[in-house]
Amino acid sequence: MLEIRDLHAAVAGEPILKGLNLTVNAGEVHAIMGPNGSGKSTLANVLAGKDNYEITGGDALFEGKSLADLEPEERAQLGLFLAFQYPVEIPGVSNMEFLKAALEATRKAQGKEEWDSVTLLRKARETCKQVDLDPQFLKRGVNEGFSGGEKKRNEIMQMLLMEPKLALLDETDSGLDIDALQTVARGVNSLRSPERGIVLVTHYQRLLDYIVPDFVHVLSNGQIIKSGGKELAHELEEHGYGWLTGDRNDGK
Ligand code: ADP
Ligand code: MG
Ligand code: MG
Repeated sequence: MLEIRDLHAAVAGEPILKGLNLTVNAGEVHAIMGPNGSGKSTLANVLAGKDNYEITGGDALFEGKSLADLEPEERAQLGLFLAFQYPVEIPGVSNMEFLKAALEATRKAQGKEEWDSVTLLRKARETCKQVDLDPQFLKRGVNEGFSGGEKKRNEIMQMLLMEPKLALLDETDSGLDIDALQTVARGVNSLRSPERGIVLVTHYQRLLDYIVPDFVHVLSNGQIIKSGGKELAHELEEHGYGWLTGDRNDGK
């Protein structure tokens, strides 16, 4: 589904990803972990096609198509959900208007049946409830004045409605409160299916107590330096990243 081969990428001209390889098949949940500044968010932003993030070598293929050739909207229409491919705040555009436009384009591109306004509103309300977000948020400007936890709930709500083939979420290092964390986990777990791939970018192990990944990868200095199963996350929790990156001597 997603095949990243020897990916090199630069942010504002600075090389950050330095030969990254990763394969995600349908049905798999992958966690990308790593120390601060290792390039986790850069990877997410490169896949999302964010401005200033430039692929300088290698490739990232989604269902065989090179992401480098696709606009962010086209990536979404193919069934990739990357939360931050959406602007953080869009004052003056309501959440509902935004969802309607995104869903229409995406469902059409994927040959899914169209939802009329009534269906869409019903589904949007149901999905808000599923993530403990007051349906009143549908009327508000996209992310305008939302708290960190509300933004995260909103993002998961969008993701659930989009029904992506591949979802990539960056937990960000700011730290979510336990309620938001559990909302993310419930949302992601409800998306798990044999047809879908999920990539979680997280600095902390704790999210992985709620979403048990099939594979864990450690990113350091722009490369994946170790891959393993869910037990690798526990080793990292116990020993930190130093034993892998060589930054700390803790007997390993
Ligand atoms: P992580 O998410 O793993 O903490 P990031 O991908 O955010 O790491 O950052 C990786 C490296 O890229 C860091 O050294 C960071 O300073 C650098 N970086 C990120 N964004 C920019 C930018 N816009 N301009 C220059 N350097 C950047
Ligand atoms: Mg960081
Ligand atoms: Mg980050």
